Amino acid sequence: METGRVPDERLRLLAVHAHPDDEASKGAATVARYVREGVDVLIATCTGGERGSILNPAMDRPDVIENLAGVRHHEMERAIALLGAHHAWLGFVDSGLPEGDPPPPLPDGCFALQDVDVAAERLVKVIREHRPHVVLTYDENGGYPHPDHIMTHKISLVAFDAAGDPERYPHAGEPWQPLKLYYHMWARARWFAIHEAMLAAGMESPFTEWIERAADWPDRDDRITTRVECGDWFETRDDALRAHGGERADVRLDGVGRHTFPARVTQVIGQPLRSAGAVHASSACVWIITSTARPRAQSR
Ligand SMILES: [Zn+2]
Repeated sequence: METGRVPDERLRLLAVHAHPDDEASKGAATVARYVREGVDVLIATCTGGERGSILNPAMDRPDVIENLAGVRHHEMERAIALLGAHHAWLGFVDSGLPEGDPPPPLPDGCFALQDVDVAAERLVKVIREHRPHVVLTYDENGGYPHPDHIMTHKISLVAFDAAGDPERYPHAGEPWQPLKLYYHMWARARWFAIHEAMLAAGMESPFTEWIERAADWPDRDDRITTRVECGDWFETRDDALRAHGGERADVRLDGVGRHTFPARVTQVIGQPLRSAGAVHASSACVWIITSTARPRAQSR
């Protein structure tokens, strides 16, 4: 394979995420798989999750609230260690998820209000330092409509296109052009499969409302071009999720719209589900990858 790299050089992957815990809930099993295969994986987190919500009443205390960013940084270290990746903070401030009708304005100085071209420089610097062959990020809808997720998509595209251009961001390191940019993607078929599997297992599905609304959403599964088997790493993913406020930390933090699964959902539903997603895009075309896995019985 001609990639321009020296033969014994490790492959490198960069996964760009909006908040602490996104790396554990989006493509984590895929990352864990590549780490175990010897790929050098760096996870870049755009914001510190400062506007997260504490969902565990036991942790809804002033000392935790005052130190929310510190708590999330600590959780992040554990999750990254479990995945076996490296980590970089881009240092932007969480925009929060505006709720209400009309939604309130975004807070001054937050990530989503930054100038895209200016903000992208921090990611260009990360790309030029890590020199990834593949970059993972969110699609143009952010995976879900959180302003920080959409901003993550925007700076990822700018950085991907600019990182190899010596004329752009000349003070952000030696140029490096990654080969591929992939978007994470939740397959619609996966939503329905999870939902139906939970009901079949006699569980209450947290996706009932989403499924009802999804009837009006466009089916984008035809964008999926690539699937990565990652079912053998679902336990690792679950461990990383729990590092962000599960039973180990006795805290549940979710600053990103309550999109983190209860661990039991991923465990109980894992067998028919065993999938995670990503979409691939470049400036010239859009490819989509999503991850699927063999049934558990065949994977051992
Ligand atoms: Zn998020």
